[in-house]
Amino acid sequence: MKFSVSAVLPCFNEQDNIRAMYGSLTKVLKPYETYELLFVDDGSTDATLETIRSIAAADPKVRFISLSRNFGHQHALKAGLDHATGDCVISLDADMQHPPTLIPVMIEQWQQGFEVVNTIRGEQKSLSISKKITSGLFYNLVNKLSSVEIKPGVADFRLLDRKVVDALKQFNENYIFLRGLIPWMGFKQTSVHFEPAERLSGQTKYSFIRMLRLALDGITSFSSRPLYLSIAIGSVIAGLAFLYGIYAVYVHLFTEDALPGWTSITASVLFIGGIQLIMLGIIGIYLGKLFIENKKRPNYIIRQKNF
Ligand code: UDP
Ligand code: MG
Repeated sequence: MKFSVSAVLPCFNEQDNIRAMYGSLTKVLKPYETYELLFVDDGSTDATLETIRSIAAADPKVRFISLSRNFGHQHALKAGLDHATGDCVISLDADMQHPPTLIPVMIEQWQQGFEVVNTIRGEQKSLSISKKITSGLFYNLVNKLSSVEIKPGVADFRLLDRKVVDALKQFNENYIFLRGLIPWMGFKQTSVHFEPAERLSGQTKYSFIRMLRLALDGITSFSSRPLYLSIAIGSVIAGLAFLYGIYAVYVHLFTEDALPGWTSITASVLFIGGIQLIMLGIIGIYLGKLFIENKKRPNYIIRQKNF
């Protein structure tokens, strides 16, 4: 059976990794005859785009899309998936952390009938402690607070069948979170394990704050559970406050020492105020998302492509 393979690589300031990626992907994909490498330049400020351009000029199998600014990893990935043409589409990071040598194994699974082949990252010895903590926190939080199950260590390194890619094209939401969306979509899924390599060059673009934001996006895009949580916490606090109110009235009416209550009043007012702000914040996040989604803006804007 003849089939074509696409590899999609979102790149943000990866100038020193592009050539290495190109080299090893070409080696791995050669046996498949019809394949394409689709680089998505996510508004890089270094020589990433020039490097991709010069590779594309020499090799017709290399296609690229250049976005008008940095839209973020998930949107760059979506742009690539929307434009990939292969019967199966493989997405991977452009920093050599996702080993291209795993691709034949993924394609084998696909040929056995699986429509999604996920990859699960093993423990990486060289991973920094802060990265380990944030990614552990990330999966825990997302799984506890949202309704889709994301296996810890699932990477944005996966193979998608053409059917899945076409289905994914219908999604125009602004807060895409593919690691949650893909399990939600169904289809026949499987996963393979891999040991992540060290980033070849450059730095991770996922700082602690960005990871936290991704977690919050993942949670609030996939469930309204935090809203129920806020109602539950709010009710408990309100109940306690009511009881305390009765007690305060009792103290005022039936005892002599009503005045020295300043500390407790201040404490409870501040506490309840704080809880209210948190709850408002949670509601605000959802409201903000509705606001943005309601505009139906495009997920990304393409400045240039070579096809
Ligand atoms: N990336 C992107 N846009 C961004 C941030 C990252 O296209 O705004 C790309 C980046 O070039 C890399 C992949 O997404 O190919 C994963 O990013 P990174 O390696 O920084 O994440 P980590 O592997 O540390 O989780
Ligand atoms: Mg990386």
